Amino acid sequence: MDDKFTLYNLKVEVVSTDIPMVCRHKEGDYFLVIGEDLIFPENNSFSMYALSAILPLLPAKQRPLHANDWMLSDSVIACPDPNCGAKFKISRIGTQEFSHADCTIEPIQKGDKQ
Ligand SMILES: [Zn+2]
Repeated sequence: MDDKFTLYNLKVEVVSTDIPMVCRHKEGDYFLVIGEDLIFPENNSFSMYALSAILPLLPAKQRPLHANDWMLSDSVIACPDPNCGAKFKISRIGTQEFSHADCTIEPIQKGDKQ
C-alpha cells in the first residue's frame, strides 16, 4: 500500500527592517526545515527566543493550505523582543516525499476520522 505523503521544505531567514536589530541576529542567517528536522548550516546561530516564536507555524507551512488561510499568506514573523527590528521570513523551497510508516507506528486514518 502506498503510504507516501509530501511536505514542503522550508527556509527560515533573518531579514532586516528599518528598525535596528538588538538581538544577535544577522541578516541572511537561516535554517532549513525538512520533514521533522531543523537543519542549521555551519557558522550560523539562531536565537532560541526567536525560534520559539517561529516553531508553531512551521508544521502548517509544510502542508498544503486553503487559499484563504492566513497561514498561507503570512510568512514574515517578528522577533519576540519588542525592541528588535528583526523579522524572519518563511519560504517554501520545494517538496519532499515521506513515508507514513517511517514517521509513526499509528495506522493510516481513512476519511476524516480523528
Ligand atoms: Zn531580535
